[in-house]
Amino acid sequence: MQIPSDPVEIVEVGPRDGLQNLKTILSTEGKVSLIRRLSESGLKQIQIGGFVSPTAIPQFHDVSQVAREVLSTINGIKFSALTPNLTGVENALLCGIKKICFVFSVSQAHNRNNVGKTPEESLIELEKVIHLLKQTPEIEINVDLSTAFGCPYTVKVPQETVIHYVKKVWGFGIRQITLCDTVGFANPVQVAKLISTCCNLFPKGVFRCHFHNTRGLGLANCLAAYMAGIRSFDSSIGGLGGCPYAPGATGNISTEDLVFMFNEMKVQTGINLENLFAATSYLTQILPDVALHSHLFRAKQPCVQKK
Ligand code: ZN
Repeated sequence: MQIPSDPVEIVEVGPRDGLQNLKTILSTEGKVSLIRRLSESGLKQIQIGGFVSPTAIPQFHDVSQVAREVLSTINGIKFSALTPNLTGVENALLCGIKKICFVFSVSQAHNRNNVGKTPEESLIELEKVIHLLKQTPEIEINVDLSTAFGCPYTVKVPQETVIHYVKKVWGFGIRQITLCDTVGFANPVQVAKLISTCCNLFPKGVFRCHFHNTRGLGLANCLAAYMAGIRSFDSSIGGLGGCPYAPGATGNISTEDLVFMFNEMKVQTGINLENLFAATSYLTQILPDVALHSHLFRAKQPCVQKK
């Protein structure tokens, strides 16, 4: 089997996806310190939070403060923020965020529950965002398509539905698209098929993948996606994560495990695992009651055992 050796980009989404579902509201200082430690591991992209209604997700009540703090004190990292609407984009830009991840779900039921809109209404919102961003061409936009591999309300999401929305987003001139397995329903064959179709239809696109490890297939799906051409993955420190509107959702794939897999395959990630562990250890201090799901953090790197 021919294994490609192209390096991968890992986008840390722990401060957003990892924290959004937690009952414990971390202090602003705790969030900034976590992001600082993550930035010392070699990660180049970190999603710092969501510009969403604090009533919907109280964890992000201080997202503007977190954004301003990390942007003014940490250099060399691309900080992105997630938002489902124009107001969120406007607020993110006011804080100096340079990369927007606009999210909507390709499933009608999930999008209604998650952002209170149909996917078509989200597309109208996206059009407004694009209009706004015409005045600021230096701002990057990525569209995150939630439930691209399955929906907690309807289970199946036909591939044609996903492609339909990829085409719509592409038609707006957007070239960065993340296919999200929001609730961990994907399997490697399904992943390979969807990625191959997207890459064939849109060879100039930058497609990313976002997997949850809800049913233990996260890394298998990452490998299938890598083999099918994906070179950028979202993951979360300690395997934290979940969606408040996706019943049963658990953590994202763990950044530590993902880095370990690629390192062992001799695929470059640019991330130093020992430095990443420093961020995980910090997480265990600030969230002592939260279970982490990184196998590697528990087992540590392979070493020769002393007799
Ligand atoms: Zn997610």
